[in-house]
Amino acid sequence: DSVDNSDMYFQSYEDLEIHKLMLKDSMRNNAYRKAIIDNQEDLKGKIVLDVGAGTGILSVYCAQVGAKKVYAVEASETYNIALETAKENGFQNVIEVIHKRVEDLTSADIPEKVDAIVSEWMGFYLLHEAMLDSVIVARDRFLKEDGLIFPESAAIYSSPCSIPSMFSDWDDVSGVKMQSFGKLLRSEACKKPLTELIDPENLLCEPEVVSWIDLREVTQEDLNEITFRHVAVSTKVAAYEGICLWFSCTFPFPRGPVNAEPTILSTAPEEPSTHWKQTLIVLPDSIGMEEGSPMCYDLVMKRSQENNRRYQLEVTMLDAEEVEHPEFCSCFMTKC
Ligand code: SAH
Repeated sequence: DSVDNSDMYFQSYEDLEIHKLMLKDSMRNNAYRKAIIDNQEDLKGKIVLDVGAGTGILSVYCAQVGAKKVYAVEASETYNIALETAKENGFQNVIEVIHKRVEDLTSADIPEKVDAIVSEWMGFYLLHEAMLDSVIVARDRFLKEDGLIFPESAAIYSSPCSIPSMFSDWDDVSGVKMQSFGKLLRSEACKKPLTELIDPENLLCEPEVVSWIDLREVTQEDLNEITFRHVAVSTKVAAYEGICLWFSCTFPFPRGPVNAEPTILSTAPEEPSTHWKQTLIVLPDSIGMEEGSPMCYDLVMKRSQENNRRYQLEVTMLDAEEVEHPEFCSCFMTKC
């Protein structure tokens, strides 16, 4: 069994607030909707598998463009809502809701290969919750050789940044210096990444791609550990206070004659905000940067041993001048 603590995990999805948060995220919804509409020529009359259907919204998008059949697989009690949503939209004969974990599906549940998989599996900094593992299982068992996956690829980005909410904001709180409080806040923040919106102005250089994931080919093993070294120079005079992470997802290239561009769902700081916001790894201290100051760190995203669904994010600050023979000027680990 590759999924640990799954009862707790699925229970967390029985909280209506979580689904509300996702359903209110119009950037998210509209990316899926547009991608599905743009690819309708490839979905019309076809068979689709919705991995983790939740309240059923993605299944309905597929039914709306003429899918012949949508298997909406949902492990939590939320499957009841998916049933209602299907009915409410008049698709009870197209959408078949299956209350199971994708990993437990048998050929009695889905007796055929599917033309497309849709799934909204992305977590904070992309991999949190590791639901991509379940999409991989579904792909390997049920997707036709040339089937489509929505989304089809994903990328994680990283950039050094200033984090005023953790540092300079505490210089003056309505006329009072509160850096002692700020310090406490930071020592807590070093243990666990923050989920916060960051002003793009606070990024210190161009972002780099930490990892690019092709959903048609990625394996669970590929996701056990992702390592990345960023060597950059600051493009501004600023305080280096953390590492900002975010992701984007790209949907299949539409084959229809009209739309040539694939849909991209980006959670970058300069894009309209989503419920994923950005992920911030807070450094223990603020480091003053000049224009052209070097910045260098290793980032490791490692699946936790105790719980497959969890990742540890580990940042090692490197002395940029010695990066060929790295000397650790400070090193810390952050759990989430
Ligand atoms: N597709 C919905 C819900 C996305 S949230 C939407 O876009 O709004 C992810 C959902 O996947 C949750 O409801 C969760 O319970 C379900 N899920 C996660 N892993 C699963 C698995 N292995 N099998 C079945 N359902 C799963």
